[in-house]
Amino acid sequence: MSANVAANHVVLFHYVLRNGEGQLLDESGESPMAYLHGHDNIVPGLERALTGKPVGAKLDVRVEPADGYGEKDDDAEDTLPLEEFGDHPPRIGEQFATRDDDGHVLPLWVTAVVGNEVHITFNHPLAGETLHFQVEILGVRKATAEELQHGHPHGPDGHHHH
Ligand code: ZN
Repeated sequence: MSANVAANHVVLFHYVLRNGEGQLLDESGESPMAYLHGHDNIVPGLERALTGKPVGAKLDVRVEPADGYGEKDDDAEDTLPLEEFGDHPPRIGEQFATRDDDGHVLPLWVTAVVGNEVHITFNHPLAGETLHFQVEILGVRKATAEELQHGHPHGPDGHHHH
C-alpha cells in the first residue's frame, strides 16, 4: 500500500546532503532514513518540501538556514566547569543536552576543553548553512499508534521496539 507524504505517516527515503559550497555533509547510504511526518523529526524546510509527494518522487530541495538548523547566533557560546561532565572528559564536537528555565531540552556542542573549562555552543554544527538535499522517496505508510505516541518511527515496518 502506498500513499503520498502526509502528517502521521512514516516516510522512508534516501538522501544526500550538501552545503552551499557543494561539499558532502551526510547521506543515507545503504539503509534509507525513516521519519514520522509532522513531528519535527527532520528540518522544517525539508519536511515542507516532501509534503504531498508520492512514492518514487526524486527531489532537489534547497533549505535556507532559517528553515534548516537555524541562523548562527554569536551569543550562543558559554563555558562550563569540567566537573559537570562527570568522569569522562567530553570530546570536541560531542553533543550534550541541558534544560532551559521552562524545562525545554536544549542541545549543546563542545567546541574546546581548556584546563578545567569546557567551551560549548548552542549553535547546531550546521547552523547558518544553506542545505541542499537530493531526496528519493522509497515508501510511505501510516504510523502505528505507538509511533504516534512516541513521536518517531520504529523501523521500516513499525515493529522495532526499544
Ligand atoms: Zn519509540
